[in-house]
Amino acid sequence: MSKRILVTGGAGFLGSHLCHYLLERGNEVLCIDNMFTGRRKNIIPFLDNPNFEFIRHDVTMPFFAEVDEIYNLACPASPIHYQYNAIKTIKTSVLGAVNMLGLAKRVRARILQASTSEVYGDPLEHPQKETYWGHVNPIGPRSCYDEGKRCAESLFINYHKFNQVRIKILRIFNTYGPRMDPNDGRVISNFIMQALRNEDITVFGEGRQSRSFCYVDDMVRGMVAFMESDPQFTGPCNMGNPVEFSILQLAKEIIRLTGSSSSIIYKPLPEDDPMQRRPDISLATEKLGWKPETHLETGLLKTIEYFKTVL
Ligand code: NAD
Ligand code: UDP
Repeated sequence: MSKRILVTGGAGFLGSHLCHYLLERGNEVLCIDNMFTGRRKNIIPFLDNPNFEFIRHDVTMPFFAEVDEIYNLACPASPIHYQYNAIKTIKTSVLGAVNMLGLAKRVRARILQASTSEVYGDPLEHPQKETYWGHVNPIGPRSCYDEGKRCAESLFINYHKFNQVRIKILRIFNTYGPRMDPNDGRVISNFIMQALRNEDITVFGEGRQSRSFCYVDDMVRGMVAFMESDPQFTGPCNMGNPVEFSILQLAKEIIRLTGSSSSIIYKPLPEDDPMQRRPDISLATEKLGWKPETHLETGLLKTIEYFKTVL
């Protein structure tokens, strides 16, 4: 059955893939975005679709629309973008959550929060399960994002508890794919752009820190499965690819797949950069039958093709 679905941050990387997926399934999609890191290019393919509507709006301000579901993705996700205006990042996470939860309560919509593996901070438990409370520096450079998202989770769980709002808290681990912003400073976009230009690949620290990379199609499929699942299952629920790579391994893999002549150079490790990250996805698999299907090499090749078109 067709639904009216609000996607905040719908002009961003993940949001635009989500809009596409929801439209393909015959839904009406209302996308709101303040275009801080969102790009018009990401939503141009949908602008002719009568089931798609875009409104420039900042989620720190209240918003009203009759909708059945809300995916709350509005928030810059790359460290350079979220640290650019830290106070604004906190406001986006916290006030954005208040406004969207208020709307969900008023129109009785289901609402999914795009939370993050960053709620685990620099984790001391590995791999990370949903039961882990995390290890976050509340005053460090990443705190605007980490604590903003943690506060949003608290708002979600309490709107559920006190106002019976039907919530879903999704903890998203590093996700990549076509339509990432080539200048957002994230590791996949940086390394691919550097490799395609045969420039030095900038590995921070010694490159021993690890991440687990999930291809965007797998993530979007999981997000929608979670939204549509039993209302009793509120999460938090981890989603990501549990195959872990060191950043140095990733650099070498991208050099190999692009056939680049780039060299690897080493730069200082940013403050509070988490040393390891890998999701335990047993809850998502048990409750939703979800697991990622795209191997890193396959996903990287598709992403490299995309970045070639933006060069
Ligand atoms: P992105 O920066 O491409 O997209 C974020 C979108 O939110 C952009 O279109 C931006 O313009 C919009 N936005 C920012 N502030 C806003 C505001 N105040 N009002 C309205 N719109 C606003 O990032 P992404 O990778 O697509 O991430 C989407 C969501 O998923 C974010 O909430 C992020 O925290 C979460 N997430 C992403 C990842 C990942 O690896 N991509 C990992 C964990 C969590
Ligand atoms: N990184 C790197 N070189 C870069 C960009 C990032 O070595 O040019 C490292 C960064 O220090 C971190 C990892 O890659 O350890 C992932 O960084 P990203 O900004 O993509 O996301 P994070 O998971 O840290 O939020």
